[in-house]
Amino acid sequence: MEQRIFHGNITPDEVARALVAEFSRSNFQAQQFGKGNQVVVQISTRQFRQGGGPTAMSVTLQKHPDGVAVMVGQQSWLGVAASLGKTAFSAIHNPFLLLGRLEALAQDIESLQLSNEVWRVIETYTRAAGATRELSERFRRMVCEYCHVANEVGESRCIACGAPLGNVQPKTCLNCGFVVRPGEPFCPNCHSPL
Ligand SMILES: [Zn+2]
Ligand SMILES: [Zn+2]
Repeated sequence: MEQRIFHGNITPDEVARALVAEFSRSNFQAQQFGKGNQVVVQISTRQFRQGGGPTAMSVTLQKHPDGVAVMVGQQSWLGVAASLGKTAFSAIHNPFLLLGRLEALAQDIESLQLSNEVWRVIETYTRAAGATRELSERFRRMVCEYCHVANEVGESRCIACGAPLGNVQPKTCLNCGFVVRPGEPFCPNCHSPL
């Protein structure tokens, strides 16, 4: 499951609606479950492959204090697991059955493409809605540890007492939007160097 956080004035419902609208067209089908703080959108390819069902992804959209956290993962799909197990076993006896495995590989590639497409739609929508990987304006304040006056993020010294503010600057990973602690060398969510 890959997670990204989008900072800004957006809600899980809005992102879900954008996904359903986009994927209800052409070769996909999409449906929304739940509403409010946690919404799941299920997206799948329409066509059924021989020896299995459609490739499906689930997108979990969760309210975050500064926007929406998005998780995209391949849906557990029993049909695939069952057919893979059978293929591995029977291929020993009949190499022609390896063709079944090739079909499963094609499925993996298809689900990777679907996952990329899902992220592309989310990125496009959130960018249009003004959400970014950085903390939004309303979180761009920090309280001085010494005198408790609110300061703009980026100030090196407190506007009231002059104390250094380096320890309290909030920061986000520019790859996935995760809020990180000052001094952390790698993002705990996506492991990108900070
Ligand atoms: Zn101060
Ligand atoms: Zn990250």
